[in-house]
Amino acid sequence: MSEVKETVLEIDFKALEHNYLYLRSKLLPKTKFLAVVKAFAYGSDAEKVALKLQSLGADYFAVAYVKEGIALRDAGITRPILVLHPQAVSFDTLIERCLEPSIYSRKILEAFLETAAKHEQKEYPVHLKFNTGLNRLGFGENDIDFIIGKLKGTDYLKALSIFSHLAASEDLNEKEFTKKQIDTFQKIASEIDKKLDHIPFKHLLNTSGIVNYPGAQHHMVRSGIGLYGYGNEAKIDAQLRPVVTLKTIISQIHKIKPGETVGYNRAYASDGYKISATLPLGHADGIGRQYGNGKTYVYVNGKKAPIIGNVCMDMIMIDVTNINCNEGDEVIVFGKGLSANDFAQTADTISYELLTGISQRVKRSFI
Ligand code: PLP
Repeated sequence: MSEVKETVLEIDFKALEHNYLYLRSKLLPKTKFLAVVKAFAYGSDAEKVALKLQSLGADYFAVAYVKEGIALRDAGITRPILVLHPQAVSFDTLIERCLEPSIYSRKILEAFLETAAKHEQKEYPVHLKFNTGLNRLGFGENDIDFIIGKLKGTDYLKALSIFSHLAASEDLNEKEFTKKQIDTFQKIASEIDKKLDHIPFKHLLNTSGIVNYPGAQHHMVRSGIGLYGYGNEAKIDAQLRPVVTLKTIISQIHKIKPGETVGYNRAYASDGYKISATLPLGHADGIGRQYGNGKTYVYVNGKKAPIIGNVCMDMIMIDVTNINCNEGDEVIVFGKGLSANDFAQTADTISYELLTGISQRVKRSFI
C-alpha cells in the first residue's frame, strides 16, 4: 500500500541543499548568494525553504511583494530581504519590517524618499534597478542624473546596490544580446560609481546566468529556479535535483467500453475496451486544462499513463489500460523521475509557470 493517501507536493530539503551547494560551487567564494523565494518559493513553501537556505548560508533573499517579505520575517528570516516589485502603498510596512526595496522608477524613488523621510530614516538601504534590455522594470541610462540628484540631496536613503535582470541568459543563441546587456550594466554601474560618494554593490545574474556567464557575477547573484532543481537547459538540469514532486493516488478505476466517453464535453471517446483511473487533482490545484486530452502523461507504478479527456476542477482521468494498478496506488505527476520541465513542455509552458501554479489547496509535505 502506498504511503501517499492524498494529493501532496513533497518538498525535498536534501535536494534543495544539493542545488544550493552546486550553484554556490560555480561562484567565487566572495560572491554573495541571493535566494529568490517569491511566489511561495516557486510554489513550494517560502518560509520553510527560506529558513533552510538561511541555515545553509544564503546571504540575501528576494520576494516580489512586501506581503511575501512580511511572511518571511514572521517565519524568522533575519537576513536582508530585497522586495523586487514593491508598490508605494506598501512602503510604510516595508520600512517597519526592515525590507529593502527595489527602486525602479522616478515615481517610486520620490515616493520612497517621502516615506523614508516620514519615518525619519537614516541611510535606509535601497537597490536601484536598471533596465538593460528586458524592458520590464527599471530605470534607463537617462535617469542617472535624476537619481544622483535625489540621492545626493538626502540622508534618508542610501543606494546599497545597483542591479539589472537578463532577458535570455538560458538561450545560447542570444549570447550577443546577453553580452550587450552585461556591457550596458557595466557602463551604468561605472557611471553611478563615479557620481555617487560611495560604491554600491552590483548584481545581475539569475540561475542560467550563473552557469553561462560566470564572469558577470559581480558581488552577488540572484538564483531562483536552479534552487528548485531546474536550469532551463539539459546541461544544468543534469546537475540539479528536483525539489518538489507532485504525488497523488488513484481514487477510482473504471472499465470503459468501446464508444464510451470519459469526462466533461465527452472529449475522450474510447476506441476499444479501456481502463481509466480517476485522480484527486484538477485545474483548481494547478494542473490546467491544457494538460488534458492525451498531451501529457503521469507515472503509475513506474509506467506512463496519459491524461485523457478534459481536466476537471478537482479530478483528472488517466488511461491505465496496460498498467497493473489498483485504487489507492500512488501516482507521480511530476518531480522525481519526471521533470517539471518535460511535464510543462507538453502544454507549451515552462517549469516556472507549472511550479508556481500549484495551488495552496495542495498539501505540502517535507522530507
Ligand atoms: N532576479 C529577478 C529580478 C527575477 O525576477 C528573478 C526571477 O524571476 C530572478 C532573479 C531569478 O531568476 P531564475 O529563477 O531564472 O534564477
